[in-house]
Amino acid sequence: MATAVMPTYARADLAFERGEGVYLYTQDGKRFLDFASGVAVSSLGHAHPHLTAALHAQIDKVLHTSNLYRIEGQERLAQRLVDASFASSAFFCNSGAEAVEAGLKLVRRFHQKNGRTDRYRVVTATNSFHGRTMHTISASRNEKHLDGFLPAIEHFDQVPFGNMNALRAAISDKTAAIIVEPVQGESGINPADPEYLKGLRAAADEFGILLMFDEVQTGMGRTGKLFAYEHSGVAPDVMALAKGLGGGFPIGACLASERVTAVMAPGTHGSTFGGNPMACAAANAVLDVMDEKFLAHVREIGADLKARLTKLVAKFPGVLKDVRGLGLMIGIEFDKPVNTDVVRLLEAKGLLTVVAGNNVVRFVPPLIIDASHVDEAVKIFEGVCADLARA
Ligand SMILES: *Cc1c(COP(=O)(O)O)cnc(C)c1O
Repeated sequence: MATAVMPTYARADLAFERGEGVYLYTQDGKRFLDFASGVAVSSLGHAHPHLTAALHAQIDKVLHTSNLYRIEGQERLAQRLVDASFASSAFFCNSGAEAVEAGLKLVRRFHQKNGRTDRYRVVTATNSFHGRTMHTISASRNEKHLDGFLPAIEHFDQVPFGNMNALRAAISDKTAAIIVEPVQGESGINPADPEYLKGLRAAADEFGILLMFDEVQTGMGRTGKLFAYEHSGVAPDVMALAKGLGGGFPIGACLASERVTAVMAPGTHGSTFGGNPMACAAANAVLDVMDEKFLAHVREIGADLKARLTKLVAKFPGVLKDVRGLGLMIGIEFDKPVNTDVVRLLEAKGLLTVVAGNNVVRFVPPLIIDASHVDEAVKIFEGVCADLARA
């Protein structure tokens, strides 16, 4: 498998030629049920007719013009995201890390332009994941991600996720913002307690600092609401989006409230590709599909999938430990750290999943799955659990 691609990933020896709905197909026609969605990206599944048509139509018009000019699709997308959220503006980029990076810049500038140049530190949570840029690996402080890339950018204060006392104790005169994921994704699908999120909002308001949510994975319907923060009713000041936003086309966004938007002006931040006509055509098509009925479907089928998996925890006590999640962002915790092996076993039986943390298998299927896909996935998963129980 030696290739000229830089060896930064441990890839499965599989290559998909095409996708249709919830299935991916290899060149030799082997079919896989895709409960990975390219890491929670393919929110509408593969070859969704509305998304495909929107991209075809845009290809024939223009691919790229840059942010030197107005982009109609980008203005429309920004307005739709603003109308659906706490925000009053959106900045577009191309990935999750860039969306977080934009937010981390915004929270600094907010304070600097309000006369508080001493406020630049950001409080982060243990087991967080915010991306792979220097800024974002410094925020998450995952030792594996920092290995060989030290020194980390030092202006982050990390506290245990979910611990309100530790959070409040970490806030100082130098604190600019708090950043958390409403449901921690990469580290093992850990939903924040709504009371914790309320506590974060209260602390932010009390100390005059900003609250930023990283909804790169939880946003765009993944948890059964357009944005996960809606479950708790706690609105942030800044929010990063990416993964599901373009349904597979790369696009990220950083949304900001009115007072944060107020400190931005021409020349303060930028991206050559950000929010280009193709990316915005994709995201607008995704939003066309994600109406209230669609989101209700995600909540219902997600609850059904979670209930079915929870039964398996009782059935295979030595193998499975816990099932967690919201909507169609579900993590199954194993008793032992065996997850990559389990993902390979599931793959061999035609089910694609993703690892999270070191003992969790993540089910993040396209949001269009129906009961038959739940049956098929649970059957395969149960078979693998039975094999593991015998082993
Ligand atoms: C995936 C992810 C990122 C990073 O997104 P990239 O597109 O890989 O840069 C950031 N934050 C969260 C919560 C994520 O899940």
